[in-house]
Amino acid sequence: MRDRFDRQRLMFGDRGQKRLRELRVAVVGGGGLGAFVTLELAYLGVGMIVILDADVLELSNRNREVGAWESHEEGTPKVALLGDLVATIDSTIEVVAIPERFESPQGRKALQSVDVVMGCMDGDGARLELNELCCERGLPLIDMASDTFVEPDEVLFGGRVCVVTAETGCLCCQRVLDQREIRLDLGSGEQRADEDAIYGVRREALAARGPSVISFNGVVASLGVTELLALVTGIRKPFSQLDYRGHEGIVRKIVDRSADCYYCGLRPERSR
Ligand SMILES: [Zn+2]
Repeated sequence: MRDRFDRQRLMFGDRGQKRLRELRVAVVGGGGLGAFVTLELAYLGVGMIVILDADVLELSNRNREVGAWESHEEGTPKVALLGDLVATIDSTIEVVAIPERFESPQGRKALQSVDVVMGCMDGDGARLELNELCCERGLPLIDMASDTFVEPDEVLFGGRVCVVTAETGCLCCQRVLDQREIRLDLGSGEQRADEDAIYGVRREALAARGPSVISFNGVVASLGVTELLALVTGIRKPFSQLDYRGHEGIVRKIVDRSADCYYCGLRPERSR
């Protein structure tokens, strides 16, 4: 039978395509990265997509929010834009759009009915919490981050993908999280202001309102979705960490994992 996935089936086989159709994926964060990931999941024919984000469309998002058309008003929830985007591509895909953060009761509940989580958030505090939740539930997590740094004498841009499974480890033992940022993200506003005064404004805090370019997000999102395909269709084994350095024109594989990880120890027996 011919259908829209013929060319893809040549890569994944009937079995791989069926797996994609049966797959339930959560996209946590519907900004520049999450929007791109959602777009690709829809074209791949993933059966169910749960999108979580409490943010709304702002003028400054319009350069990179896939699915934000000129006709969309500012203030529209990002999850609504992305739900419409998926429906426009393939109306047979089930979409659950939740305008809440994943830490909310609704968000935590929605993550009970998925098979894989795509982490597309800013901020290592939230990443640590998502890492913990996924380890506790034995849920595979593919976490993505883009990173730009522009100073008069130095321009860096790129990002990274980190795969969290029993085999690859987690964001903590793969050492991708910034401890100072976590302390500040999870601390009070006063603490943040004090630390910024002492150490200077954090690079990560600047990143939230710093440069952001659709093509950098697109590379990182596509690397992350390709690791999802590796995990689900078996085209190869997923890599634990990929580091994209756009300013050097390279993607590096990184294997770095410390032993005796507290978070990996939270995994249920069946997923170890
Ligand atoms: Zn770990």
